[in-house]
Amino acid sequence: MPPPIRFHLNFVGDVMLGRLIDQLLPTHVYCPEEAELIAYFVAGNAALKNYNFKSPWGNTLPLFHAADLNLINLETSITTNPKPWPDKVFNYRMHPANIQCLKEAHINYASLANNHTLDFSEEGLLDTVRKLKDAGIPFAGAGESREEALQPAVLGLKDGEDAYTVHVYSASDHPEDWSAVPKFHLIDYLPSTRNRLKQLLTTPAVKPDLKVFSVHWGPNYAWMPAQEIQSLAHFLIDECGVDMIHGHSSHHIQGVEVYKGRLIIYGCGDFVDDYAVNAKFRNDLSAIWRVEVQKSEGAEGRRLRVRRLEVFPSRIKRFQANLLDKADTDHEWVKRRFGMLCEGFGTEVHKELGDQGQIVVDVDNGD
Ligand SMILES: [Zn+2]
Repeated sequence: MPPPIRFHLNFVGDVMLGRLIDQLLPTHVYCPEEAELIAYFVAGNAALKNYNFKSPWGNTLPLFHAADLNLINLETSITTNPKPWPDKVFNYRMHPANIQCLKEAHINYASLANNHTLDFSEEGLLDTVRKLKDAGIPFAGAGESREEALQPAVLGLKDGEDAYTVHVYSASDHPEDWSAVPKFHLIDYLPSTRNRLKQLLTTPAVKPDLKVFSVHWGPNYAWMPAQEIQSLAHFLIDECGVDMIHGHSSHHIQGVEVYKGRLIIYGCGDFVDDYAVNAKFRNDLSAIWRVEVQKSEGAEGRRLRVRRLEVFPSRIKRFQANLLDKADTDHEWVKRRFGMLCEGFGTEVHKELGDQGQIVVDVDNGD
């Protein structure tokens, strides 16, 4: 028998390349306050002088380069627009030249439905969308029109002559005051939204081999998702044919649930940023969430089934993400915390780590 056809998809949470990270890169948005702050950090750490397009990714690049697809939540606008969204506490933007950072990691998809896409007004959102289009990086969750903001990104996978399609939808449950902007995909937990999502996700004439819902949801700093979040996740699987959910926003890792053989990642955590560290929730600790999918032929025809999840713990330090060695106490922290949070969903985590120190969860072995 030929070996089964499998692909590896890497998912990460918030990739925030704006503000101080932008200032570290050779070309950056003009912002004297941020420039002054980053000069202080560089004075204390000479290595930061060599910060370049590869730097945000640290030693994680080989794992990105080895994957079939890499999917992120892009937690910043890509614009030089000077007009911030009024009365918002944090406004992030990165210079369009720094999209090269995404290219260095072979990023294939960026979620734009999050609380920073409109940080520099609708112009900033449009700049972001257009820059991603120019760079050939698919996105979802925002667009030049309402229709574009709602439609899924269409990604391709290939095995010899065989081509497979992955659809990725993106939505955010905040900020509420962006509900007046049709170019942004905001959701809530009302029945009318469920009806709309069902219509949106089940209408496409061409069915993808894998359907992903990428969602920025929930409050910051809460270990377990609220009941309304879990209920929506189940609805997306039960009624909308979603195969896996890529959740983010919480700033720290959350547990995963295996629901009817489908995968729900509630919160990936922050992958790279310039944030201060919360000692309790450890927002500096995160992971690359590698999902293995396998071709299967069933009653519904050909599909890609989510077979397993492998969690590669990582840490943000000095504006850079790095994979953690399994001997590192922070690796142990992630393993223990993730295990505890998974228990809350009845999710079984392998006792033994994988050969690269990854934490393993079986999703659907097809047995
Ligand atoms: Zn966010």
